[in-house]
Order: sequence, then structure tokens, then C-alpha cells
Amino acid sequence: MGIDAGGTKVLGGVVDEQLAVHHRVHRLWRGFERREVLDLLVDVVEEALATDPETEAVGFGIPSLMDSDRAVSLACVHLPLEGVPVRDLISERLDRPVVVDNDANCALLAEARAGAAKGATDALMLTLGTGIGGGILAGGELYRGSGSAGELGHTVVEIEGDPCTCGSRGCLETVASGPVIAAAGELAAEREPESGLGKARAAGREVTGPLVTELAGEGDPAAVEVLADTGRKLGVGLASLANAFSPEVIVIGGGVAAAGELLLEPARAELKRRALGPNRDVRVVAAHFGDEAGMLGAALLALEHR
Ligand SMILES: [Zn+2]
Repeated sequence: MGIDAGGTKVLGGVVDEQLAVHHRVHRLWRGFERREVLDLLVDVVEEALATDPETEAVGFGIPSLMDSDRAVSLACVHLPLEGVPVRDLISERLDRPVVVDNDANCALLAEARAGAAKGATDALMLTLGTGIGGGILAGGELYRGSGSAGELGHTVVEIEGDPCTCGSRGCLETVASGPVIAAAGELAAEREPESGLGKARAAGREVTGPLVTELAGEGDPAAVEVLADTGRKLGVGLASLANAFSPEVIVIGGGVAAAGELLLEPARAELKRRALGPNRDVRVVAAHFGDEAGMLGAALLALEHR
């Protein structure tokens, strides 16, 4: 079983060796305390186990800087898991092997084994959601550096930019995450009341990232421009990452990736303008597994540790 514990939602699935998903569990959380977070994670597993009792092992992807040897969450800006030995606390409540890794590392693992980065030995992944997670595949293996590599969402793109959840300013996460798209959509709706965004807002709809994507898909120019502007800013960060890592492919996942080419095409164009030599030709593609990549990768880790 794989569990992707995101900043606002939890997605779990019972997965077989061919990566077919047999049973899905969705939960939302907000403002939970540490105990409630761990209780809900155990609940999600138990709900799935009730239908699939033969599940052999459970993998968790969490949005944390990890001490991967001890499976301790060292720092976590979206959930109260700082300093928590997640694997040990959960495995004592589940009668099965438990493995825990960073959520974006899990997503990259799934994409590298069977998805958009299949066959690549050097790849990057960014998961655009509540925040921006990142993972690095180097020489065919997840690259951890001295422990906490891969935090690509905290690549600084604006020196005096907006404050970031990490304590810095102007990180990629402050210009291209889901909440930033929602805020930009809200501004565009105010500025252009006759646009699709403006009319949706006037009709009482909350301007969210998914609404911006939906209206952009229907051709609303205001919504298209919000995604294009986000894509350009994403591309600024991708150019730095392409120069630093020279990957074969950069995979963009997370909920925001639902925007597809409306986001990726401007990102590629900006990357091409800024990156050096052959680094400007790196492929930038949407995650094959969409926002299920993290859940599938967590399940792959579990399969390896059963
Ligand atoms: Zn940051």
C-alpha cells in the first residue's frame, strides 16, 4: 500500500506489482495536531486493510526533510511532524513493515520506474501542490547528498521576493505553487470582472487553482494568462536546475500539473531563453501518473521492503 500525505490531503492506495491500484482512500486534513496526523494515517491504512487484508507492507510519502536511515522527519513546513520518528510510531500500530520517504522522492521513483522519466538515469521532479516538492535522480538512483538534497521548490528565483514557508524569500514555491495560482486568479478576477474568472467570482465561486485551470482550459484569456505567467516563473527556476544538474528530463507533477501545456509550454520557452548550451534542450514533461505519482512511489518503496 502507498500513502501520499500532502499538505492538505491524504491519498492512499492498495497497489500490485504491476502498479495497478485496487482500492483508493482519500482524506482531507487542515490544522491537525501531530497526534491527529498520525491517527489519520493509521486510519487510512486500516480502512484499506479491511478490504485488502493480504496487503504486505505500507509505504508513506511525507512532505518532510528526512533522516532517511532512521525515517525521522527532521523538518516539515506543511504538517506538524518536526523531529517525529514517523516509521517507528506508525509501524508499532500496524502489524506490517512500514517505510517512509520524502513525498517528492516517492513521486520521482514512480515516474522513473514506469512513468514520464522511464529509461532516464538523470532526472528531476517537481511536485507543484500546496508547496513545491522536489527530487533528484542521479546515475539511476535517488540522490540525497549529505542527507536532505532535492528541495528544488526552495530554489530562489526572486532575491527580495515574498516570504516562503521555509523562512527564506522568493523561492520557486512562492511563485508557482497552487495557493499562488489561486491568489493570482483572484487578482485577475478583480482586475477583469468581464473575464471568465471575474464572472465566476461574481457568481460566488471561490477562485482556486483548479478553477483557474478549468477556465483556462475553456479558453478564458485571463485564466490562460495566470497560468502562462506562472509557467514563465517556473521556467526561470527550471533554467537554474537544468544548468546545475543537466538532467535528461524534468517531470512536473502535483495537482498544479493538471494545467498541462498551458503551464509547461511557457516554462519550456523561459528555460530555453535562460539555460546554457545543451541544458536548454532538456525535456520538460507532465507526470505520467498525475497526482497519484507519490502514492504509487510510496507503494513501490513498500514492495521493496516487504
Ligand atoms: Zn522556500
